Amino acid sequence: MVNFCFTEEQELLRKAVREWCKKELTLEKIREMDSKGEIPREIIKGLGDLGLLLMTIPEEHGGANADWTTACVAAEELGYADVSIAVPVLFLVENAWGFVTDKYCSERVREEVIRKAAKGDAFIGIASTEAGGGSDVAAIKTAGVKEGNQWILNGEKTYISGTEEAKKIGGGHFLIARTAPPLPGAAHKGLTAFYLPINTPGVEIGKRFEEMGRMAISTGSIIMDNARLPDDYRVGEEGKGFYLTMEGFDNARLLIGATCLGAAQRALELGIEYLKERKAFGNPIGKYQGIQFDLAEMWAELEALRSLVYRTAWMNDEKYKNKRFTPLEVVKYISAVKLKAPSFAFKVFEHVMLWMGAWGYTKDCPLEMGLRGIMSYYIGAEGTMNIQRTVIARELLGREYLSYK
Ligand SMILES: Cc1cc2nc3c(=O)[nH]c(=O)nc-3n(C[C@H](O)[C@H](O)[C@H](O)COP(=O)(O)OP(=O)(O)OC[C@H]3O[C@@H](n4cnc5c(N)ncnc54)[C@H](O)[C@@H]3O)c2cc1C
Repeated sequence: MVNFCFTEEQELLRKAVREWCKKELTLEKIREMDSKGEIPREIIKGLGDLGLLLMTIPEEHGGANADWTTACVAAEELGYADVSIAVPVLFLVENAWGFVTDKYCSERVREEVIRKAAKGDAFIGIASTEAGGGSDVAAIKTAGVKEGNQWILNGEKTYISGTEEAKKIGGGHFLIARTAPPLPGAAHKGLTAFYLPINTPGVEIGKRFEEMGRMAISTGSIIMDNARLPDDYRVGEEGKGFYLTMEGFDNARLLIGATCLGAAQRALELGIEYLKERKAFGNPIGKYQGIQFDLAEMWAELEALRSLVYRTAWMNDEKYKNKRFTPLEVVKYISAVKLKAPSFAFKVFEHVMLWMGAWGYTKDCPLEMGLRGIMSYYIGAEGTMNIQRTVIARELLGREYLSYK
């Protein structure tokens, strides 16, 4: 049986998030956050009070035990409200990477960061990318060496979201380091995951990058110079970090799909209002077929994307809850979501801005924030487009067709 209905709980959550956003995340507020480069503390606390931060982790760890479909509903609403994408980034990073950290971490880490982050009293992000490259996770150079019951970390992670937030409110990042030499043909083995608190002695935060969009959340570097972590801060088994990282990416990419859906929906709605109001040659511009056809195309693609996102969310839930699918059966759908959603949302913002003429090019119009923000996902936050294509082709053709090992 195919059922396209959300549950009553999911509908209630959607309503509650929409109502909260109407008050707390107005377009004026988003513009202010975009100019000031900061998500106000009360917004982060508000997300915690609503139960949205780390909502997919068990209640006894401070979460809401929500499934991924429900998390997608929340991501969609946050994308609808904050078209600049800063608050949705905070939401998705904490949910995807908080989930994987919580699933495999020690009780000590849970106490130190997970329970706090769920309330908005700490931040948890992901630190995988290095200056040498982000796509090739197996090639990372950050080294972890065990000494007694401690790990000594050296290296540098860069383009890391939330470095300033972690510094300000506490918390840190799920970090991946090489703890054993790469094996020929299996470089992904020998990587281990850790929780790295930002205030660890030997850890320094590099400068905040000046980016083009999602201005209210920071992106910076994390430099480790003999940073010492107790073994309790290892996440998952030694040598299994690559697999945990892939699990985190899967959930993050799904939430990005839902965020893009919400943002594109909002852009389209703002566009429809404009098409009815704006007159040219004596008619509302919505009367002209040249524009109507574009609107119809955008809407049809949006609905196709909605089906893909929620079908994939359902598969992801079935994978976790009922083991109906294996991770490899779901991964190509998740990559399809990450491949299609940012480029499509970017296109909607671009087209609606064109309908709006000169106004669309000004900061009086909210849409330019969306174009800048969505570009972060389009260019490659949580994985580039080519990496998604590679995953899909690998699953369709077989691993022997991978062009790299
Ligand atoms: C706004 C923003 C926030 C970010 N936040 C975080 C964060 O919080 N934590 C974190 O760890 N990282 C973060 N990143 C980094 C992100 O994960 C990387 O940008 C991404 O993984 C790509 O790595 P790269 O930029 O080094 O590009 P590269 O890996 O150097 O790739 C460059 C280009 O080559 C292409 N390419 C690479 N390999 C192949 C191949 N085999 N076949 C075809 N094409 C290929 C890529 O698709 C891309 O177009 C963030 C990035 C951005 C833009």
